[in-house]
Amino acid sequence: MYEARIIARQGKTYIVEDQLHQQYQCHARSQAIDAVCGDFVQCIKYEDTKDVVEEILPRKNQITRIDNFNREKTLAANIDHILVVIAPNPAFSTLLIDKYLACAVLNRCKVSLVINKAELLNDFQLDIQELESIYKNLVDQFFITSAKLGYGITAIRKSLFNETSIMVGQSGVGKSSIINRLLNNNDIKVSSISEQIQQGRHTTSNTYAHTVNQYGKIIDSPGVRTFTPIFNHQNELSLGFIEFKEYIGKCKFSNCQHINEPGCAIINAVNENKIHISRYNNYLAMRQEINQ
Ligand code: GDP
Ligand code: ZN
Repeated sequence: MYEARIIARQGKTYIVEDQLHQQYQCHARSQAIDAVCGDFVQCIKYEDTKDVVEEILPRKNQITRIDNFNREKTLAANIDHILVVIAPNPAFSTLLIDKYLACAVLNRCKVSLVINKAELLNDFQLDIQELESIYKNLVDQFFITSAKLGYGITAIRKSLFNETSIMVGQSGVGKSSIINRLLNNNDIKVSSISEQIQQGRHTTSNTYAHTVNQYGKIIDSPGVRTFTPIFNHQNELSLGFIEFKEYIGKCKFSNCQHINEPGCAIINAVNENKIHISRYNNYLAMRQEINQ
């Protein structure tokens, strides 16, 4: 028996990596085992067949979304840092950014904003200052990158040290291009097993945990076009907005939903510009989505 980490899944086959960074192909013991990228697992070694994933160890957190068929789908587990990538084009929505931020807060992981295609900022008149004014106190780091020119990649690579990060964002913003840049300086040799998987990555849209910066992991999630995080209850949504925290519990009504109630501390904070109106509007939009 050995402990390992899931770094990819292709149909019923998992690629796991043990503590010595050796990779093995595994089957799952049974259908009940539904491991995702980032899971820590117990495996049994076999001489002449593939190894077997016996058990998934308890998860610290998991990134789960609602798919197009209204089913819960877990993308990855045991995440330390969510990197939300946006770009001047395709046009981004702060609603999607705020969904990822809420997901990070509720999963107790760090979250950073990556503004890619920086060389196009002027052409598209993207106002970085406006974005910074909304997000500077809400995210851990702001990265400005150009995967095309190779700009800003070193800063991201540094942040990946010894952590498990996931790169998320609309398709077309340059997530794969950034990962390719990060991998060009890879200091750990990619095994032949994972080379095969990586080659198939773009066609199969599988999630894959790449090793970058020694033992850092960066997970990409190709094929995820939209993202709707899961909230266990309505009140949990407001907890996903960290700047709301100091006002929660201070509304006139203890069951205040912060929509239009008199004496709402959150609405007052919005009116006093202590909470950004864009964040509050996205809170309302997410409430509506949950209620649907
Ligand atoms: P993903 O869907 O988020 O993985 O995005 P890709 O990495 O596939 O990139 C989408 C398109 O944007 C491709 O045509 C890339 O060449 C292009 N792209 C990626 N990064 C940059 C960048 O920094 N600047 C410019 N101008 N184009 C970029
Ligand atoms: Zn309120």
